[in-house]
Amino acid sequence: MIHGSSVRVESASWQNLLAGSITDPRVLLARLKLDPGLLAGALAAGREFALRVPEPYLLRMQPGNPNDPLLRQVLPLGEELEDQPGYVTDPLGEQHSNAQPGIIHKYHGRLLLVVTAGCAINCRYCFRRHFPYAENNLSTAEWEQALDYIRQDSSINEVIYSGGDPLAANDRRIAWLTRQIADIPHIKRLRVHTRLPVVIPQRVTDGLIEALSATRLPVTMVLHCNHANEVDAQMLAATQKLKSANITLLNQAVLLRGVNNRLEDQMALSEVLGDNGVLPYYLHLLDHVRGASHFHCSDAEAKHLVGQLLTRLPGYLVPRLVREIAGEAGKVPIHVDLITS
Ligand code: SF4
Repeated sequence: MIHGSSVRVESASWQNLLAGSITDPRVLLARLKLDPGLLAGALAAGREFALRVPEPYLLRMQPGNPNDPLLRQVLPLGEELEDQPGYVTDPLGEQHSNAQPGIIHKYHGRLLLVVTAGCAINCRYCFRRHFPYAENNLSTAEWEQALDYIRQDSSINEVIYSGGDPLAANDRRIAWLTRQIADIPHIKRLRVHTRLPVVIPQRVTDGLIEALSATRLPVTMVLHCNHANEVDAQMLAATQKLKSANITLLNQAVLLRGVNNRLEDQMALSEVLGDNGVLPYYLHLLDHVRGASHFHCSDAEAKHLVGQLLTRLPGYLVPRLVREIAGEAGKVPIHVDLITS
């Protein structure tokens, strides 16, 4: 792990940590004492989808290790620029489900709100790495239209804050939005999909807790953590705070070659999360987004891995293996047999 910056991180606000994220590959390689030979590829791939890594996340990486599982999630690589058959810019067809700016309405009963365009970290495998966020950055009038869309469709009973990362919005915006949504009688629950409590745990402020928990709506937060090395004391302090406010905590991960495709990686992740009150929810097969093919694991490998987990962990610590297919009515579960060997 990197030492030396932790005092600054511990005393900084989440906004400063967000603003101070590393976006220059030269800085990342120097901080981690990595081979400068990685620079040309990082600069080229970073032009298509920028590098972005916040300091608290960087501090959990091992210097000198180009295969660090956290580094692999954020370091742009030259191979991202090689076209691979079947890897496209919008693998889930979301641009067709983008009912109007700010809204993605794919499934019955629930709807995604694109609360912010930005993320605290740029994950190289992200299926939204080519999403037209600029068209989904809402003005106040557009927010009213998005809320009207929800008000007029009584089949929607759950709103999901998404992004970008919805917690990149400030507490005032989240409080306002949550009050507006709680005022719609047919909305029964609120869900927040976020990676921020993992990558900048300082984001979980008292103001955020108040903004999320001040209404009648039960709140579920689905974190996104792919590897046990992402879990540190500060992240656990953040999850503890959320739990104390009766926010249900789940985790979704993406199965990524070179990051978490070994049995010991998945076991360690499920155990550390479960021991701290965060239940594994989904393990996603990689969406075939352009630039991410080097993370691909075959279906057979994925099924073998989860089949092994089923015989080694209690069922509630085994995530459901799923694939997202454009146009389907929900996430598609992948059948897994028990594997004892
Ligand atoms: S935090 Fe989520 S939305 Fe943002 S880049 Fe990572 S995977 Fe994509």
